[in-house]
This record gives sequence, C-alpha cells and structure tokens, in this order.
Amino acid sequence: FNPEHIRNFSIIAHVDHGKSTLADRLIEIGGVKSSLPQQLDNLQVERERGITVKAQCASLRYTYMGQEYLLNLIDTPGHADFTHEVGRSLFLSDGAILLVDATQGVQAQTVSNFYTAFENDLFVLGALNKIDMPNAKVGSCKMEMSKMFDLFDSQITEISAKTGENVEKLLPQVIELVPPPRGNPSADLVAILHDCQYLSSSGNVLLTVLIKEGTLNSRDSVCLLSSGKTFPVREIGVFQPEPLPTSNLSAGQLGYLILKVKDVEDVIIGDTICMPGSIVEPLKTIPKPKPSIFSGVFPDENTDFRSMKESLEKLVRSDTSVSIEADSNQTLGQGWNLGFLGTLHREVFAQRLAQEFGTSIIMTKPSITYRAVLDNNNEIVEFNCAKNMPKCYHVMKWEEPVVETTIIVPGDHLASVISHCMSCRGVQKENSTLGEGRFLLKFNIPLIETVDDFYSTIKKLSSGFATCDFEEAGYWETDLTQVDVLVNGDRVDGLSMIVRSDEIREVSMKTVKNIAKLLPREQYKIIIQCVIGVKVQARAEVKPYRKDVTKDLYGGDKTRAMKLLARQREGKKKLRERATVKIPRAVFRTL
Ligand code: GDP
Ligand code: MG
Repeated sequence: FNPEHIRNFSIIAHVDHGKSTLADRLIEIGGVKSSLPQQLDNLQVERERGITVKAQCASLRYTYMGQEYLLNLIDTPGHADFTHEVGRSLFLSDGAILLVDATQGVQAQTVSNFYTAFENDLFVLGALNKIDMPNAKVGSCKMEMSKMFDLFDSQITEISAKTGENVEKLLPQVIELVPPPRGNPSADLVAILHDCQYLSSSGNVLLTVLIKEGTLNSRDSVCLLSSGKTFPVREIGVFQPEPLPTSNLSAGQLGYLILKVKDVEDVIIGDTICMPGSIVEPLKTIPKPKPSIFSGVFPDENTDFRSMKESLEKLVRSDTSVSIEADSNQTLGQGWNLGFLGTLHREVFAQRLAQEFGTSIIMTKPSITYRAVLDNNNEIVEFNCAKNMPKCYHVMKWEEPVVETTIIVPGDHLASVISHCMSCRGVQKENSTLGEGRFLLKFNIPLIETVDDFYSTIKKLSSGFATCDFEEAGYWETDLTQVDVLVNGDRVDGLSMIVRSDEIREVSMKTVKNIAKLLPREQYKIIIQCVIGVKVQARAEVKPYRKDVTKDLYGGDKTRAMKLLARQREGKKKLRERATVKIPRAVFRTL
C-alpha cells in the first residue's frame, strides 16, 4: 500500500457511548464478517466488566471513488484511569472520531479525550451515536458538541452503531479529512512498538507495531533498539481484527510481528524497531505516566512465589503504566510494591493477574504519594508508605496530592453532588451550565478522598447521571503522623499507617476493631493497640478460650478454686509474654 492510501484513526468517547459497537460495525463494512459480539474486547476482564482496558487494532479495506484504501482503526478505552492508553492510541493516529451518545450528551471523559486528541494535533470528526433510541436528543447534543469542540454541524454525523444507520458515511469522511501517514516504503525500516501480548509459555510474543518508515518482510530479522538484540521474525501480519499473516508491512501500516523472546526485559513498549546493523534515532514516545495509587502485592498461601514473579513481570511489561519495586514484611514475606494510575486500574490489574495467569494474590490497602519538605534547605522527600516516612522533627511541612475533578451533572442532583465534594474537603473552581439543564463542575479535591468510593458515591447521589474525570493538580499542605499497630506489645511490620492528624482517633479505633475481628482466639488474651511512638491511641482485645479448671472440684472448697484460677491466670500471662501472635494474612488483604 502506498501511504497515500492509508489512514490511521482512533475512536474516542466516554465509556459506554458505543466505541466498541461502532468499531464492530466498521469492521463489518471493511469486509470481515463475524457473529461474535464485541469483537475487539478480547481480554476476559474486558468481557466481564463490559469495558475496554487495552486498545485493540483492526485493519479495514474500503473502496472509495474507485481506489482501495487501508483504514487502520484503533479502539480505545474510555475510563479515566486508562487515559494513558487513549494517549498511546492517539499517538499512532492521524485522526479521531469523537463519539457522543445522543441520550447522554457530552460527558466528562468526552471532554478529556477531546483535549488529548487536540493536543496531539489530530483531526477530529464528530459522530452522534444511538439516534435509534426514542430519548435521543439529537438537536441539543449537536449544539453542545459544536459549541464545546468547535465542530461545524456538517462535521457531526448522526449514526446508530447498533442498527448500522449512517455508519458507512463515516469512512469517506475519514479518507477525505484525516491526513495520510507520512513515510517512505523504500527507506530504512523504523517501526514503533505499540503493544505486546504473550502468546504462550513458548516464549512467543505478538508485538503490535506501526511502521513509520521502510518495509518489513516476513523473512527479515529485526533489532529492538533499547536492548540492541536481534530476533528473527516468525510471522508478520495485520489485524482483521484476528491476526492475519501477510508477507510484508510497509510505511504507514499498522500490524503485528511475532518474535521468540526469552527475556521479557527485552520487550519495551514504545521502543523503536529497526533492521539489524542500521543506525536510526530512537522515535519520540509519549512520557510514561506517574502512578498515583500504590499497593503492596504478595503471594497468597497457595501461590508459588516464583510463578507469581514470572506472571507479574509479564503483566507489568504489557502495562507500562504500572510501576514495580521489591517489598517485604515479616508476615507476608517477599512481595512487591506496585503503583497504579487509579483505583480501577489497580482492581483491573489484580483481576487480570488472576485470570490471565491464574495467580491469586494479597493486595494491601491502597496508599498515595505524600511529600515532606525538610528543614534543611527545603529538600523534598516523597514517600508512599509509613516505612519510608521521614521523622517528624526533620519536617517543616507535609503535603498531600490534589486532583482536579470535572463533573457533569443534571440540575436535579447538583446540590447533593456539590455537598459531597465539600464533605471530601473539595474546593470549587468552576460551575457552568451546559445544554438540557446540565452543569459542569470543577473541584480541587485531595487525592486520598477519592481513593475509596468517591466516584461511586457521586454516581449514587445522581442516580447514575453524573460523570467524572480527574487530573493531577499539585499539592496541598496537610499534617501527617505515623500510627503503628501493636499486637501484644509487638509492632506488626507492614500495618503501620500514614494518618492525617485530625483523623488519628477515628482511624485508630476503626483499625483495632477490624483487626480484632480477624484474629483467631488463643488460650491467652490478645491486645491490639494503635500507637504513635509510645502513646496509645486506641485499644481492643480478643478474649481467650476459657478452660474450666474448677470443673473437677466439688463441694464448697472456695479457696482451692480461687487458687486454681489464679494459677491459670498466671500461666496465661506467661504464655502471652512468650508467644508471638500469628497474624493471619487476611488482616492485610483488601481485595
Ligand atoms: P464503549 O464503552 O464506548 O465501547 O461502548 P459499547 O460499544 O460497549 O456500547 C455500550 C452499550 O451501548 C452497549 O450495550 C451497546 O449495545 C449500546 N449501544 C452502542 N451503540 C448503540 C446504538 O447506536 N444504539 C443503541 N440503542 N445502543 C447502542
Ligand atoms: Mg468498549
């Protein structure tokens, strides 16, 4: 294919607005028929949750004005935690179809995805979806879209991805308006490694690549630039969307190549691929996002450490947005501290680990990155667990991260959503009206307030109508303290917490109660305490089993019974002093 006759584009939209359905319709038009619904959502977790986690690709052939075109379509995920995946797809594209559900109107992620496309200099086409629905508000949605995204009415196609109505009109627009990729098929090979997937335990990996320059043949060997290693190509091809082998891929084409790679470290998403021995500049890639939510991850009782390590490393390779570091504690042994882009990202990762690699894990309570400004020349220290917290007497001030939350909400629910944001220490930045009595709110909220159930509460308060998006917004000053957990006087490694000073009592009480519920009873009393230094903040007990030592006595000899009970008390006290309480792993588990 001449690059002139290739177009690379993405579909972007808020979650559930119909991206995957539209992609399926376009694939049908492009010639591949399949009865499978949701062809592009092929990870198990995606099918179960009905969301797209990883962007998938498909190549379509379409004849327009007597010329055959190759259209490469990249399906993107819509949820805010996966913004990075959207960015990566848009990085490969020259244009995007911005899809809006006509029954919902523009939503929070429609706005953020539009800006990502805009910043990437993509040509944006509008499409208004679900016009088959009786409650579709075509006129007002179109107005909203043209107002917010500077689109002309003629640039917004009214479609139904479900019935297929007008879907075919999109492809000529893509061809006419989206610029073709630049690149010369006869230049030296330069390709970008966009994604990778492990095919089996045989060591074969399927790499999704975009050829920037040159041509790749199925008998070539390629060099992965970062590692400098060379691998013979096993197969190359295009996505239909199932992999279909071809004999070559040339500049502008999106496709895959299969290599046998032993060391997973050699495969780096975003890497440049070239011919062995050729000298090329590494391609510019989009910067790695910074993780914001951290969790300790440890093998479960019945998981083998070695096999978990292997699975984890593979999954981390294919999801570059996860950060990984070794971690360990006395109860759980060796493990890792992982960083995620958000709470959904964290849950999805745990689920993928279990489903794709059969690994069951213990994930600890999520934490975030705090900062301490030290009193010697304002040095800033970042930490995300109590273990790494600097000592308070060196600290001039503590800081916590803040996110800017964008919420789009109907007027009926405006008041309750605003008051929830306020109760989460939010500060309002904007409140403007959209069409149809809807409002766009912007709040700055401490990240930690959004970690648990902020977004599900917003959904509940608005009967499901409000949508949210968020982005980093710097740091606020706060006051933090380290709270440790003692069990019968021993500090439990890994349970220490970073607590805001005005929450110490509340958090300590809750913690001791929760732990007490999870500890099995012993022959002796177990005392659980939350402490700051040596100062006890909260305390709970687990009562011992009681053996009736006076059972064999009869008659009225009170003093003997008293003596026996006293001896039992003494014995139990000794036992308690000597025994270390075995902490069940469940105490650490949050998933
Ligand atoms: P995505 O999250 O953007 O990929 O959205 P999906 O493609 O998964 O679609 C979300 C839901 O909307 C699914 O239940 C689809 O069947 C439905 N849907 C998508 N397009 C249309 C449409 O044009 N009309 C109607 N009535 N439903 C649609
Ligand atoms: Mg989808």
